[in-house]
Amino acid sequence: MNDILELSNISKSYGSTKVLENINIKIKNNEFFTILGSSGSGKSTIIRMIGGFAKPTIGEIIFENNIINEVPIFQRPFNTVFQDYALFPNMNVFNNVGFGLKIKNINKNIINEKVLEVLSIVGLENFSNRMPQELSGGQQQRVAIARALAMRPKVMLLDEITSALDPEVVGEVLNVIRSLNKEHNLTM
Ligand code: ADP
Ligand code: MG
Repeated sequence: MNDILELSNISKSYGSTKVLENINIKIKNNEFFTILGSSGSGKSTIIRMIGGFAKPTIGEIIFENNIINEVPIFQRPFNTVFQDYALFPNMNVFNNVGFGLKIKNINKNIINEKVLEVLSIVGLENFSNRMPQELSGGQQQRVAIARALAMRPKVMLLDEITSALDPEVVGEVLNVIRSLNKEHNLTM
């Protein structure tokens, strides 16, 4: 199988503080790749550099054989899910999930179809009209996953997405993630 994403000789400093040194990672298409490390070791920084939220000080980020260091966030075919869901509190589930498609001026019927499809993948097809505050943490995180999924990313970046959840709902979120990786062939 081919590599989809590569970090080559990446170092990252904030001012004079060196956070990462000489990181080399190759991720295969459809791989579920996990980064483990203690708090402050630079895991989020790696994810942020892949997503385009931060720039490497040295080194190259390579996607499908092209260096993407200079490609802006919105042009990278990735989507990130964060620990704190960050749903829009004033929008219902449907509008949260469809937001990215709407600002791309995609046809309303297509948005409708796409949003219902991804909501059904995360098991929330009957929750379109709910507001975020009317959902459990696990359900909110599944909405955030659906929102990322609606943009059809080639790589989904997940930054400790279960760490803010009550232990009893961690499983429902991980099951969704596993099925996305296995049944929907998403690199994560
Ligand atoms: P992790 O996700 O593994 O807990 P982070 O990538 O968030 O680690 O942080 C790695 C290190 O970089 C930490 O020491 C953190 O304080 C530092 N850091 C992260 N972001 C910034 C920033 N914007 N400015 C300065 N230091 C930062
Ligand atoms: Mg982190």
